[in-house]
This record gives sequence, C-alpha cells and structure tokens, in this order.
Amino acid sequence: MLRNIFDPALISALKSTFDHARNVVITCHTSPDGDAIGSCLALKEFLTKKGKSVYVIVPNYFPDFLRWMHGVDDIIQYDRAFAHSKTLIQHADLIVVLDFNDLSRLNELQLPISLSRAKKVMIDHHEHPTRFADISISVPAMSSTCELLYRIFMLIGRDSDINRHAAEDLYTGMCTDTGQFTYNSNDPEIFEIVAALMRKGIDKDRIIRNIYSQNTLDRYRLQGYVLAHKLVVDDTLHAAYFALTKEELAQYNYLKGDAEGWVNIPLTIKGVKVSISLREDTEKPQINVSIRSLDDIPANEMARRYFNGGGHFNAAGGRLSCSLDEAIRIAQEALEAYRPQLTAEAPQPEA
Ligand code: 5GP
Ligand code: MN
Repeated sequence: MLRNIFDPALISALKSTFDHARNVVITCHTSPDGDAIGSCLALKEFLTKKGKSVYVIVPNYFPDFLRWMHGVDDIIQYDRAFAHSKTLIQHADLIVVLDFNDLSRLNELQLPISLSRAKKVMIDHHEHPTRFADISISVPAMSSTCELLYRIFMLIGRDSDINRHAAEDLYTGMCTDTGQFTYNSNDPEIFEIVAALMRKGIDKDRIIRNIYSQNTLDRYRLQGYVLAHKLVVDDTLHAAYFALTKEELAQYNYLKGDAEGWVNIPLTIKGVKVSISLREDTEKPQINVSIRSLDDIPANEMARRYFNGGGHFNAAGGRLSCSLDEAIRIAQEALEAYRPQLTAEAPQPEA
C-alpha cells in the first residue's frame, strides 16, 4: 500500500472531471523527454480504456530513443500539424497538461491551448507551479510525473486499469527522470511501484536497451571531443562547464538530442558540485543552457537568475539570446556568484 500524498477533495474532483470528459487532448512540455512522452501515453491508455476519445499533441520533435513506445505513431506534433491540432483542441472538453508547470513551456502551442474553453488539468512535479488550470496536481517531491500518475491511477482506478503498455510508459518516465534510479529516487515506494509495473509483464531490461543503447558513432565522437577539448573544470570553485558552437556540432553530424545527458558527466568528477552546458541552437539564434548540481546548490535559482529559465532544485535549464562568448561570460559570473555555497565545507556525516 502506498502512502496517500493527496488531498482527497482534489482526487475526487479529478476523478469526476475524468468521468465527465468525452474528448480529451493531452499535452506536455516542448522538447518532450521520457517522462513527458511516458506520462502522455500512459494517461492516454488509461482514459481510452474508460471509453474516452483521446489525442496526444506534443509541441515539437521528441527523440528517436522513445519511438519504440506503443502508440507513438499516433502522437501529433504541433509544429508539423497546426490545423489538425487546432481542430482537436477546439473539440476537446478536457485538456490535460503533463510534466510542466507553466503554459510558456508549450511555446507556440501555448496560444491554442490557452484560447480553449475546455476544462484544464495540470499534473506535474516541477517546483513553483503557476495557476492556470482548473485542477492542479503539483507534487515536487515526486521523482517524475509518471510516478505521480501511477499513484493517481491507483486512487481513481483499479490495478487492472493499468495495462502492460501503460506500465512500460510509466516505467520509462520514472527511469529517465531519475537517471536510471541514480538521483531523486530515495523513496522506497518508487521501487514498490517499479515492482508493481514489472508484475504487468514489462521487460525492464529491454526498455533500458531501447532507451540507452541507441547511440551513433558520431555521438560518441562528439562526446569525446567535448571531454577532451571543451570541458572546463575549476577545481577551487568545484564547478565545470562546456560550450559548443553550431559549427562544432555540425562537424560531428549532430542530431537533436545527441547532447542529452552530457551535462551530468562533469558531476561525476570528484569534487565537482555544479555543471553547466551551453549549446548554440541548430535552428534558432539562441543558446540552450542546462544546469545540474549536487546537494544544496540550487540549479533552478541559478537558471532563473542568469539564464531565463528554471526547473528542479538540482536539474534546471534556460536559454540566452547572445553570442556563445557572452554566454560563457554569464556562466562564469553565475558560478562566481555561488562561490560561498560551492566552496563551503561539506557537512560531516553523523558518527
Ligand atoms: P534540461 O537541462 O534537461 O533541458 O532541463 C532540466 C530541467 O529543467 C527539466 O526538468 C526541464 O523541464 C527544466 N527546465 C528547462 N528549462 C526551463 C525553463 O525555462 N523553465 C522551467 N521552469 N523549467 C525549465
Ligand atoms: Mn519530469
């Protein structure tokens, strides 16, 4: 039995909203990740089983390593199907937004969604949610939106409402949002949920291979180049960063998503507490920023203050409209601003 982390009134409002809905649109944040796609597909399975007509519309491209998932071919990509998406949104009586906490994370899809008069539900685990939905379920303590969704399914439905496909989807989100259960995953109940999902007959090992064994040689070579030539580590500041131009990416036939996760690598260097990745966007004149931190270093605050972004306490992102050299200067300034926290003595473990 999982502990109840919800306000019962909120769960009964959600149940009644789901019961009354007929035409549902589910969406998630721009550049969807495993948790975004996993939660959208799992909720689609759940609501379809309850007789609803359900469409998943995502703002833009999502990575190939998620394309093995059941039902991905039916996902509508807004930036490739404006008219069709708008029609579906206009006909929806319920819109559920997953894995983000502010409509701006939808980019161009924000406008049609906010114009819609459909009832809106937000289910998410990011800190500092804004209030735009009729029902907001925001639990930042969750490892992932997929974990949150599993808990909700068990309260408003039955175990039998979760089929094998939904179990695969939920496992994918929990696994990818925790770096294969290496961070944000100290709650024992996470593993009780994983055990329950495995009892649905999912092949966990194959899912991991499907997600993580999809590298190209170019991607590895680009990673080698980054580590050998681009990574800057400041030992005294316990900080690391790297910056990549479009031209450098092109030399290694960069594909969107290739740099995913690399910001985590410097954090595995002994002593490093914060890592920043700066990457010129291949389509827009912008620098994409990712920040990862350990322990009490607030990545999301740094993202808000210096990089027009936000996110989780230890994993955040943002963007800059400037040259890469200027972005490097801003990153150095941001790191310098956190010198007191970065150089503070680590608390001694209790004897
Ligand atoms: P990533 O580095 O993987 O792009 O993003 C790390 C985390 O920060 C993700 O959970 C992502 O949702 C969040 N994030 C990225 N950009 C923003 C932003 O502009 N605002 C907020 N609130 N979160 C962001
Ligand atoms: Mn997530």
